Amino acid sequence: MSYAELDMLIDGKWTKGNGTPMDVLNPATEEVLGSLPTATDADLDAAVEASQRGFEAWSDMTALARQKMMEKAARYIEDNIETIARNLTMEMGKPVAESKGELGFVLDVIRWYGEEGKRAYGRVVPSRFPGTRLIATKEPVGPTCAFVAWNFPGVNVVRKIAGALGAGCSIVIKPSEETPATAIAIARAFQEAGVPDGTINVVFGDPAAVSSRVLASDIPRKMSFTGSTAVGKLLAKQAAETLKRCTMELGGHAPVLVFDDADVEAAAKAAAGSKYRNAGQVCISPTRFYVQEKVYGDFVDAFEAAAKAIKVGNGLEDGVQMGPLVADRRLPVMQGFVDDAVARGATLVTGGKRIGNQGYFYEPTLLKDVPEEAEIMNEEPFGPVAPVASFKTEDEIIAKANKVKVGLASYAFTSDGERAGRLSKRLNTGLVGLNSMNVSTPETPFGGVDESGYGSEGGVEGLEAFLRTKLVSETGI
Ligand code: NAD
Repeated sequence: MSYAELDMLIDGKWTKGNGTPMDVLNPATEEVLGSLPTATDADLDAAVEASQRGFEAWSDMTALARQKMMEKAARYIEDNIETIARNLTMEMGKPVAESKGELGFVLDVIRWYGEEGKRAYGRVVPSRFPGTRLIATKEPVGPTCAFVAWNFPGVNVVRKIAGALGAGCSIVIKPSEETPATAIAIARAFQEAGVPDGTINVVFGDPAAVSSRVLASDIPRKMSFTGSTAVGKLLAKQAAETLKRCTMELGGHAPVLVFDDADVEAAAKAAAGSKYRNAGQVCISPTRFYVQEKVYGDFVDAFEAAAKAIKVGNGLEDGVQMGPLVADRRLPVMQGFVDDAVARGATLVTGGKRIGNQGYFYEPTLLKDVPEEAEIMNEEPFGPVAPVASFKTEDEIIAKANKVKVGLASYAFTSDGERAGRLSKRLNTGLVGLNSMNVSTPETPFGGVDESGYGSEGGVEGLEAFLRTKLVSETGI
């Protein structure tokens, strides 16, 4: 099956650039899918300069005209969804059904930001001076730049592109070199829709070299980053040199608290489904399961049954529910988490090893009685390994839930309404799911607290992140 042609997009032109190409691998087969062009410093400078011109043209259009073009881009993706989904699966590994689901979300994000751009309202403030009008207006922040992770090759990219364009900004984006075709397809949709040259620029290369070159320029006025906390800290420091605004969507390590009064079967089913989605490579994936003593055994049994029922394989094959890890470097990381937990006294319930020796497949894994000091209870696993431990009291478990610094998502299952109210206040994360694993929609704010980053994507907050405020004071009216 053929994979997409890979290009960069600079100043409205598809280009192979002047850097050394890189191979893109299929994580299910280890085959080389294609050759990815990369940018030299001169290519990057051209992209950044084009984003200034793109900004001037795009921001000059009315919000209504911009929305119509964004709608056209969404329709292009809709018309080509089968091909884009298959390319996404080939480069990233997730099952085609999941790729299509992701692209459905991509469409919703484009449409949401396109529409919401029409509502970037300011306000007229009653003036304290006679004959004077005070107007607070919203303007696009300027050209922007973004650097994103591979785990949602469509959603991670479109939250940046559509957020920027909805607000009237241009963008230079460096998607992950591991999953370029999906980003290219999204950019192509906007080009086909007719956005001015330079509005969207897509570049690839050595990640650190690309981001340091782009961030050193004073043209981008904002950076939006999705990735690990460690890299986020590096980039935020570089962005500070030119005082760029930042949206930082970083790591998480989401606890799931299951109380005695919960519907334990439903909780285990929902939690396991969410845990193994995208082979656990999700920033809001539930990653630490704390279950109250009375229902602990039932929860582990139901979770085990759900894990064992998952069909793992090449995402292009019918019926496959979980694909490979994105790259071979992730296999020893998973094994390390499992071996460490077992060495510290945890019991391996199911899974715990690589599947076969071709493709980066790892078994859906469940560990029980995992001690709190095990690495997996303290570091984000970003893979299909689920650790479970029991607890006694609400206070004890809230302290454990809140112990990590990466406060992105947390989840709790309980039928006690008062407890749910307390948990919504006491859990120190940007997203809280109560009897629900669904904390991400295009129209709601998405983002973490503390070392999970700052700023939101999605919802009115996501648009606001690409806007700045100007006060106009006018006399003589
Ligand atoms: P990563 O930080 O390694 O990579 C993210 C981006 O930064 C990619 O474009 C990558 O090429 C680039 N990059 C990597 N190393 C770099 C360096 N030294 N200098 C400059 N750029 C560099 O992250 P990852 O491992 O690809 O993704 C997994 C992480 O992303 C997890 O921690 C996950 O929780 C997080 N994530 C967060 C969100 C969110 O919305 N909060 C969403 C998805 C993923």
